Amino acid sequence: MNVSTIVIVGAGQAGALAAADLRQQGYAGRVVLIGEEAHAPYERPPLSKDVLLQPQTARCAIHGEGYYVEQNIELKLGVAVTALDAQARIVTLANGESIAFDELLLATGARVRRLPMLDALGENVYTLRTLEDAQRLAPVLQAGKRVLLVGAGVIGLELASSAVDLGAEVTVIEQAPRAMARCAPPLLTEHLCDVHRARGVTLHLGSPLASANRENGELVLTLESGTRITGDAVIYGIGVEPETTLARKAGLQIDNGIVIDARCRTSLAHIYAAGDAASQWDEASGHHQRRETWENANRQAQTAARAMLGLEPEAWEAAWFWTDQCGLNIQFAGDMTAPEWLTRGSLQAPPCVLFGLDGEGALVGAITVNQGRDMRSAKALIGKRARIARETLADPTHNLRNLAREFA
Ligand code: FAD
Ligand code: NAP
Repeated sequence: MNVSTIVIVGAGQAGALAAADLRQQGYAGRVVLIGEEAHAPYERPPLSKDVLLQPQTARCAIHGEGYYVEQNIELKLGVAVTALDAQARIVTLANGESIAFDELLLATGARVRRLPMLDALGENVYTLRTLEDAQRLAPVLQAGKRVLLVGAGVIGLELASSAVDLGAEVTVIEQAPRAMARCAPPLLTEHLCDVHRARGVTLHLGSPLASANRENGELVLTLESGTRITGDAVIYGIGVEPETTLARKAGLQIDNGIVIDARCRTSLAHIYAAGDAASQWDEASGHHQRRETWENANRQAQTAARAMLGLEPEAWEAAWFWTDQCGLNIQFAGDMTAPEWLTRGSLQAPPCVLFGLDGEGALVGAITVNQGRDMRSAKALIGKRARIARETLADPTHNLRNLAREFA
């Protein structure tokens, strides 16, 4: 371990976790964490949930006050890294400062995919990625406001839930035939849409936008079907794009994100990447995958930190993420494209668990609904690609922890 300066670009989830992990692993050299945003590193998951619902008490900071000083992590905030010379191993900041590094981590995250048709409307059109974005939504998500949400992905549905809780009248518009199609199976998303409808949300699925206008101070969205929907504000969440500008200019291999191997190494020596910006080789699927989840950012940050110090990565676990909406805590692990899904309990009356099986009957995915305590066991069973009789899986009297022990 004879490195002396590690620079981390991007002071978000992955950047902050990598810096912390370097110290936890005993690295005593210089750690410089550089972030474009003005805030100390914070978590984004509360932005669509607690920050909107309980703005006075919501907590987002990844580490407590004083942590970075205590750990001797040099935090440079409100300044972007504008250039990377991979050969000379130097980064240049927007303020003109240059920093030489021995090892570099790119944890630059992602930026909101823009929809020019909506941006052209000007005022009262919002997206959500940063703390400021969330704070801007406070006057919009109020009783009596008509909120038009474009995109029924995780952001769209979490915002629909929070907006209804805050008393707004909500309409969701989605071009795909179903909601959250990228990350959950139809069985779950169809039920989730019913829950939203029961809470008063109007959903237009399979409904591409034809035009967007401002008429008499109101926003009017017209669907390809000809339906016109009027509102006071539009919030859209139609996905994100990996932030690869710096990496691309520096000549790193890019393919829907900064290409990394299982140890988070990029195509150039001494440069690593982690989080939403990175596209990692995935042994299970046999191709590169870019994941946009909190757990992936943490895990890759840890892997990158360890790799820089010559340590092996932690053992593989099934990918995991969660969403909170409509009073439901829903956790997902493994492959959400599994061809067959079995239910333990009833989605109509949670707690319940869904199990995803591959074509040979092996467990490859699981979803818990208000039943997070089964997630650890489900992940262990997915890791073993366990084959369990369908009646056993569907029967809640068979404790999942005991089943996991049998396969350990
Ligand atoms: P980020 O957290 O985006 O951090 C990247 C940072 O790098 C940013 O601060 C950016 O400004 C900075 N940066 C970029 N370029 C430069 C540069 N050149 N110089 C300096 N700094 C730079 N995931 C879940 O699993 N569950 C959830 O419930 C959940 N909820 C979410 C809710 C919202 C509203 C959002 C937006 C995301 C949510 N996520 C959730 C996803 C999760 O937050 C992200 O996957 C995670 O933040 C990714 O971490 P990251 O470090 O890769 O990127
Ligand atoms: P997302 O989950 O990728 O969903 C975007 C949705 O918008 C998709 O259903 C997409 O449909 C749709 N869409 C795309 N173009 C559209 C258009 N022109 N008109 C209408 N709909 C359109 O992305 P997101 O919801 O915007 O979330 C952004 C980021 O925040 C992601 O990284 C996400 O992981 C993260 N996030 C995560 C959580 C969580 O994990 N709980 C919560 C909030 C946010 P197509 O698939 O057809 O393109």
